[in-house]
Amino acid sequence: MLTDLLTRYRGVFVTLFVLPVSLVFKGWMGARNRVVFWLNSAPGKHGQKVAVVQAQVRNWKDRTGGSIAMCTARPGWQAMSLKQGNYKKTHYRVKINLPDILEIDEQKGTVRVEPMVTMGQITAALNPLGWTLAIVPELDGLTVGGLINGFGIESSSHKYGLFQHICESFEIVTADGERVRCSRQDNADLFYAIPWSHGSLGFLVEAEIRIVPAKRYVHLTYLPFHSKEAFLQRFAEESSRPFDQAAAFVEALMFSQNTGVLMLGNFSDRVPPQKTRNSINHFWKPWFYEHVRSFLEQGRTAEEWIPLRHYYHRHTRSFFWEMQQIIPFGNHPLFRYLLGWMSPPEIGLLKLTETKKIHELYDAYHMDQDFLIPLSTLTEFLSFLHQEVNFYPLWLCPARIFETPVPGFVNPTPHEQMFVDVGIYGEPAVVPYHAETTTRKLEQWVRKANGFQALYADTYQTRQEFREMFDHGLLDRMRAQTGAVNAFPEPYDKVSRKARAQ
Ligand SMILES: Cc1cc2nc3c(=O)[nH]c(=O)nc-3n(C[C@H](O)[C@H](O)[C@H](O)COP(=O)(O)OP(=O)(O)OC[C@H]3O[C@@H](n4cnc5c(N)ncnc54)[C@H](O)[C@@H]3O)c2cc1C
Repeated sequence: MLTDLLTRYRGVFVTLFVLPVSLVFKGWMGARNRVVFWLNSAPGKHGQKVAVVQAQVRNWKDRTGGSIAMCTARPGWQAMSLKQGNYKKTHYRVKINLPDILEIDEQKGTVRVEPMVTMGQITAALNPLGWTLAIVPELDGLTVGGLINGFGIESSSHKYGLFQHICESFEIVTADGERVRCSRQDNADLFYAIPWSHGSLGFLVEAEIRIVPAKRYVHLTYLPFHSKEAFLQRFAEESSRPFDQAAAFVEALMFSQNTGVLMLGNFSDRVPPQKTRNSINHFWKPWFYEHVRSFLEQGRTAEEWIPLRHYYHRHTRSFFWEMQQIIPFGNHPLFRYLLGWMSPPEIGLLKLTETKKIHELYDAYHMDQDFLIPLSTLTEFLSFLHQEVNFYPLWLCPARIFETPVPGFVNPTPHEQMFVDVGIYGEPAVVPYHAETTTRKLEQWVRKANGFQALYADTYQTRQEFREMFDHGLLDRMRAQTGAVNAFPEPYDKVSRKARAQ
């Protein structure tokens, strides 16, 4: 009966229990991080901390005889992906206590960080100095290690590509405990093999990432459309402009088959007189996507000046639109003014407090997927999605996929190409909906279009299909060369539906 109540009244439970616990948890984690930071004191102790990782890896063979593979000790519930990897229960877990920013080099235009550094931490450190990462994936809690080994994208990706494309160098601890550095110039094959490798080559212990000058505000223009053709044509135009003519940020939300709002953003020093400054992330403000929808309903182009960090983390409070399902009354003004200050709940705590029944309901009725497809196929893909899923809003984010000298995991064509991330986060309206059947249909469509699936989401592909979608040539070669084959699971064994906990 308790399970039934917790499932039926999840919103009430999250409000009364998860929100206050999240608040305490965040406060405690903040205090703990400050103490850990102080004790470990970056960057002085970086070398010692990496040595601890190396020692654990060297111990691995002695302790296990190499019979079980290694993974990071970070509990699955803390990661952003919606399910927890089964492998965490059985693998040899290596503690990666590396949560610090090591160096901001304004001359070189780079920041050197440890892998547990989060996006929230980076924007807090860089933005007041007038700098930012060229790509800042939106949710505060996303880690550098996860964005490199997994997937990272943002509304500046039409200019700068995926998160890996703004990385200048990596350092990993390989299966034999060696610390190896790689960049476009040195150990280039390893450098190009690490992105999306899901820790299958070693433990990332440091990354050097490109930073770009930033200003205090983002001047955001909202362009509502009531015609799919006009909307997609303008979206394609804005996504494909040459680097110096393109808006700094391009993002679109589709609210139905024929309606959407395109958002174009540029950095700005100040808010011009008589113009609107909007700190969209204050707890009493409407959820961002609902704010965007209001311009569609008003049917007018609008502009606002949004403080930079508010812009970057604009989808954090409502997890895009996932919060609508978790706390259905969360965007009501009464809730926002009275309890909004406690939001958002910790994703980890949400995962920990889900009942088995909620898991089953999510599995059966919910879809969380991002597909990266060539821009040229977008119109067709959207029609297919409407037919197979019929869920809105959809997130559209253009991303340039660069040509690399060595073909890597995400390697669509030998030349640079514009892709679009189509994000589907919610309950499909198609009846009957069957998660596995529909996802497999979408995966097949995306494979044929030479596109990719973001791997924080479950893949229902077979191993062979997965290898068709992702070019494993370089990864396999580097895994063999660095002794990783038995030391780390390959990506499929971490991300496939079977590999993830119920
Ligand atoms: C609600 C939600 C919202 C999201 N929003 C965005 C978004 O706005 N933009 C975006 O780009 N993405 C988004 N994502 C996806 C997200 O980018 C991925 O989940 C990404 O992998 C980062 O997650 P994480 O930091 O929790 O990494 P994890 O899930 O912990 O890690 C991802 C992979 O990298 C490996 N890894 C991590 N650290 C290391 C290390 N030090 N050494 C070796 N391997 C390592 C892990 O083992 C794992 O295989 C979202 C996901 C969810 C569920």
